[in-house]
Amino acid sequence: MRIFDPHVHMSSRTTDDYEAMRAAGVRAVVEPAFWLGQPRTSVGSFTDYFDALLGWEPYRAAQFGVRHHCTIALNPKEANDPRCRGVLELLPRYLAKDGVVAVGEVGYDAMTPAEDEVFRVQLGLAAEHGLPVLVHTPHRDKAAGTRRSLDVVRESGLPPERVLVDHLNELTVAMVKDAGSWMGFSVYPDTKMDERRMVALLKEYGTDRILVNSAADWGRSDPLKTYKVGLAMLEAGFSAGDVDTVLWRNPVAFYAQSGRLELDDAAPEAEYAGNTIKRGG
Ligand SMILES: [Zn+2]
Repeated sequence: MRIFDPHVHMSSRTTDDYEAMRAAGVRAVVEPAFWLGQPRTSVGSFTDYFDALLGWEPYRAAQFGVRHHCTIALNPKEANDPRCRGVLELLPRYLAKDGVVAVGEVGYDAMTPAEDEVFRVQLGLAAEHGLPVLVHTPHRDKAAGTRRSLDVVRESGLPPERVLVDHLNELTVAMVKDAGSWMGFSVYPDTKMDERRMVALLKEYGTDRILVNSAADWGRSDPLKTYKVGLAMLEAGFSAGDVDTVLWRNPVAFYAQSGRLELDDAAPEAEYAGNTIKRGG
């Protein structure tokens, strides 16, 4: 099985995770910029975070044979914090960089006017930079948040096929399919979407434009969920080709719209900025 995890926050994971992911078939990942679990207090905190997503983390991933890309944005939650608003001015510089394959995660958390404004500004930046967009849908009021996100995307004039709407479930998938955007599902250990529900959705909606991710981060999550969905698909009678479509070809097709995917097996760099992952060497 070859796997592209299109949404996983590797900065908060261990080297054991990288080893297990590669052994299960994960060859490439996208790490979306998001919040830290606690508020950032200044724009400089984002600068260091974005630099790590483009520098140290791809270096670390490469040590385990995993190609690492990222998406860059001011996340919906921190769009509400005036201390973070200056991030919007940083974005053009980062969106020009090679490892950035989309603008994201953007969208709504609590659906405030500030989130609305920041979402629209970033959709405009995506259009300017010719990048696809990763849209986060809120955990509360998901159906209303997803509908409103699709409205805002439509008003922005971005082609729907350049947009991936993530964290979907049985209640929100149809509206995204009808809109013509890509459908993302985050499969978690004990909440929201699981392997069984994911297989049922694939039976109902087919494999076209559907992506599965682990969305693993610092919370309870499992970076092997993509692989486990692949196994569940095979058990349910899907072909190896179907699994490859969902776990590899679809995420590759979506993020290839950036023109910046790197999927060859490159030899890892010995060090990054003079540092390595080795101890005492
Ligand atoms: Zn995320």
